[in-house]
Amino acid sequence: MRKPIIAGNWKMNKLAGDGARFLLNVREQLPEAEKVEAVVCAPYIHLPLLTEAARDFPVGIAAQNMHFEDSGAFTGEVSPEMLKDILVDYVVLGHSERREMFGETDESVNQKVKAAFNHEMTPIVCVGESLEQRENNETFTFVEKQVKAGLAGLTEEQAKQVVIAYEPIWAIGTGKTATSEEANDVCAHIRQVLKDTFSEDVSEAIRIQYGGSVKPANIDELLSQSDIDGALVGGASLEEDSFVKLVEAGA
Ligand code: PEP
Repeated sequence: MRKPIIAGNWKMNKLAGDGARFLLNVREQLPEAEKVEAVVCAPYIHLPLLTEAARDFPVGIAAQNMHFEDSGAFTGEVSPEMLKDILVDYVVLGHSERREMFGETDESVNQKVKAAFNHEMTPIVCVGESLEQRENNETFTFVEKQVKAGLAGLTEEQAKQVVIAYEPIWAIGTGKTATSEEANDVCAHIRQVLKDTFSEDVSEAIRIQYGGSVKPANIDELLSQSDIDGALVGGASLEEDSFVKLVEAGA
């Protein structure tokens, strides 16, 4: 049985104090960690306050990106070693906004995935096609390429711990959700790719989230699908009540 993982991606929203207050308000309402993994993905500057507020509560804290080197002349970057030092356990890698606006590539995602494992952090690797690719029937081949390149060179044990977020770009922040069947078909294809690339054990163990306009009103149906093990949620994770409902749906 794969434990559902519900992650709220705040993107570049909230001031650090508001983020900390959010966590202080929701942390006692979250279901037990045995039932569902809840994660908040926050801007770097929030992270020290959040890891402190999350201590002893069933919620993990994620960075939304990182560099792959531990230190060096990379002005403006934050390293995996720095994140681990402040007790960050997860990192979102290759979000489509970073791929589109900040030049993230499959190769840099792969370097970052390996760096996350070097520092015992769980990578949440985002993949997903554009509307044009979907209309040209390129969804499966494009997502397959992203998954293979992002996880290249991992051991089976590492691959099992990766979380993949399948997020069709056309559904992010648009209010358009893939139907649960459409989302599940791609997640099932990803699982097949993992089976062919690694092993059946990896494909059975790895968790695949769906992301793209998920909200309390549609999460149950998405999570009822055979190959969807959670959700990566942007807009609907910004409100406390809504975040708690989303996590409860996973429990
Ligand atoms: C996201 O930020 O990854 C996302 C899926 O956003 P939204 O839920 O707002 O579509």
